[in-house]
Amino acid sequence: RHVYVNGDYLPETEARVSIFDRGFLFADGVYEVTLVLDGRLVDFSGHMARLRRSLGELDMPFSLAEEKLLEIHRELIERNQISEGLVYLQVTRGVADRDFNFPLKSTPNTVVLFTQKKSIVDSPLAARGQHVVTFDDLRWRRCDIKTVQLLYPSMAKMQAKAQGADDAWLVKDGFITEGSSSNAYIVTTDGTVVTRDLSTDILQGITREAVLLCAGSLQLRVEERPFTVEESENAAEAFSTSASGLVSPVVSINDKPIGAGKPGSITAHLRQLYLERKRASAI
Ligand code: PMP
Repeated sequence: RHVYVNGDYLPETEARVSIFDRGFLFADGVYEVTLVLDGRLVDFSGHMARLRRSLGELDMPFSLAEEKLLEIHRELIERNQISEGLVYLQVTRGVADRDFNFPLKSTPNTVVLFTQKKSIVDSPLAARGQHVVTFDDLRWRRCDIKTVQLLYPSMAKMQAKAQGADDAWLVKDGFITEGSSSNAYIVTTDGTVVTRDLSTDILQGITREAVLLCAGSLQLRVEERPFTVEESENAAEAFSTSASGLVSPVVSINDKPIGAGKPGSITAHLRQLYLERKRASAI
């Protein structure tokens, strides 16, 4: 596999980053994961807009133009022959002697990209539906910034797996915030799609935005508001969204079946419309 590091395309075994990189020492970095369908990028400009926002919130200088980033994404897709999968992009504040103070603004970023060849559309998990369990949301309070500081969601996911579930949904003050690496939704018994409103409590999912537009096109009622664990247990359907999981049904929460305990039909319609639209608009 070829990867990109600071201007060079290299075999992954030859790629090197300094031990003094602030991404390594302080998790002082941000990232994006963009879906590839049919060898083309889905919602590329949305991901780049969110990247700029994350960088801005962390006061991290970054000068690569979006056209250049697009060229690198496409070059890696080409070199690695990705027809379906993901492109990972990470930008850190660069290399500096270990110090809580940020280095000079002129310090070059570390920029790393790699691809993951993956079957995304044909997913066994999406076919059978995910079992999720809830955990206290112990992340920092700026979950709107897509930083590489992913230890807590990683731990929560491992604990979910240890309990025989597929993923963790995180809970703050009794309300679901989001999944370990996805946005969370329920469909109420009267057919309303509910997902938490945007704030510093959740990541502004690129898939979330697209799926809410799909829900509108399907004439579904949408409510962006917090919802409780209890409301989730009593929902007709539930699902999560992310670039890597698309629209992915959730069939139980804390061992309680949701609806019929099978992937729901509204979820299936949203997944189908989302895929249709994104295949048509990928670049
Ligand atoms: N929330 C969190 C915490 C995530 O890590 C992700 C995936 N990166 C998402 C939501 C979904 O975002 P997107 O739809 O842009 O992949």
